[in-house]
Amino acid sequence: MKTFLLALMLILGGLACLEPAQARPGGGHSSSSSGFSHGSSGSGFSSYGYNDGYYTGGGAYSNNVHPLFSLLVLLVIVIVAVIKNMSPPQAITARPTLVNRIRQQSAIKDQLTALKQSDANFSSILFLDFVHSLYTKFYTYSTKPEFSYLSPFLSAELQQHFQQAGPWTVNEVVINGIKWLEINTMDSETESLSVEIDANYTLHLQGKHTRYAVDERWQFYRQKGVLSAGPDKMQTLSCPQCGAPAHFTDAGVCDHCGSVVQKGGMQWYLEKRVVMNTNALASNVLVAYAEEQGTQLATIKQAGLDGQISQFQQQHAISDWQDFWREFETGIVKAYFLAIYAAWSQRKWPSVRHLLSDRLYEANSFWQDLYAENDWYNRLDNLNIEQVELVKIETDKYYEAITLRIFAACYDYTEDAKGKLLGGSKKELRRYSEYWTMVRRAGMELNRKPYSISQCPQCGAPADNMGQTAECGYCGCKISTGQFSWVVFLITQDEVYEG
Ligand SMILES: [Zn+2]
Ligand SMILES: [Zn+2]
Repeated sequence: MKTFLLALMLILGGLACLEPAQARPGGGHSSSSSGFSHGSSGSGFSSYGYNDGYYTGGGAYSNNVHPLFSLLVLLVIVIVAVIKNMSPPQAITARPTLVNRIRQQSAIKDQLTALKQSDANFSSILFLDFVHSLYTKFYTYSTKPEFSYLSPFLSAELQQHFQQAGPWTVNEVVINGIKWLEINTMDSETESLSVEIDANYTLHLQGKHTRYAVDERWQFYRQKGVLSAGPDKMQTLSCPQCGAPAHFTDAGVCDHCGSVVQKGGMQWYLEKRVVMNTNALASNVLVAYAEEQGTQLATIKQAGLDGQISQFQQQHAISDWQDFWREFETGIVKAYFLAIYAAWSQRKWPSVRHLLSDRLYEANSFWQDLYAENDWYNRLDNLNIEQVELVKIETDKYYEAITLRIFAACYDYTEDAKGKLLGGSKKELRRYSEYWTMVRRAGMELNRKPYSISQCPQCGAPADNMGQTAECGYCGCKISTGQFSWVVFLITQDEVYEG
């Protein structure tokens, strides 16, 4: 009975995931309410229970389904469908009000300011890169010997976490969003930083593949007074001492330099991890379309944006802000937006490799691969940008970030290679807005020449040979870190943007 309930819960979780989503890079396709479970079962009904991070075999329902069980499943589906039709959508997805979101964000902003006062090297962008690397490796290494490589970045307890785990492997880890929860610098010995991670991954066990959507809270610690490492040691997991790729023994000895890395002594380490939600994902999301949410919401602007503009102007000796803005809006924001969506739509994702951060590129490559597997296309015909609003400017020692709210409209639909319509509409214009965060390394000279986004910003060669890692095939420079030009770091849907 217990396994039955467990299976039922997972099924209900799966149904919750049938909430359709808009099909755009960084959009609903990569939110927790979407995803895809491909492979043998294909139904999104998982056969495996999830028990605080340990997967346990939960019986093979999808292989040998009892007729009564199928009937019950059907009954539950019908009931859920009826309930969903009866209740307003707000009742299913309660979101914090705008006022609460702004209040929460302003508390976190103060905490970040306090952290930056004691650690001038701290960069939100670099920290998010660090979390991204650790999260991806935590799962992909989970049951492999390489898990010990992570020893300096995990508490003693978490180092043991997967020891009793089943013989599964995890891949296709996609992080959709990382949200700040709390930054605590008040303690005399340590500092802590908590984030909420919204991710998907595929679990392979006994020949079955199941795609999960998870929501986890990770809390990092380090000793008080530690200064953050620079980009080279934050953008990939590496030895905080020598900078070599992280190859550690269980005891935290670096393979390369032999030093013992103490947890929290030079770098953040993960102390606590709480899984808030795990849902097996349904298989139809590529063609499921829902009403666009959030387009009507008021724009969330940074408090003190005018001051940030003046500061940015001073830093870059910009005498006329409007001049700069016009060039930036047309030459960068609109050009990037249109090029990225065209590449998405035509399934030519590698052609915009140099315009995207590693994280954004990888996350959406996963979805592009799924479209390719089915030989489907997500068309965005007549795409038109209606408005670009500046909402935030943030700078730290290493990076500057500009966030914009972009309003656009298009005919958004999915079709197969023969042109058969699978979802969306060719007749009804879909209007939407998204918050885009563009970043580049701080201290760069502004590019005042007409800017061609089809060129390598470093050597000027055609940007047609960037490979998977965005290293220009002509000059060898890595472009996606924003060292030579702007890259899109983050795309956030308007209904989840918090400032
Ligand atoms: Zn080392
Ligand atoms: Zn180049």
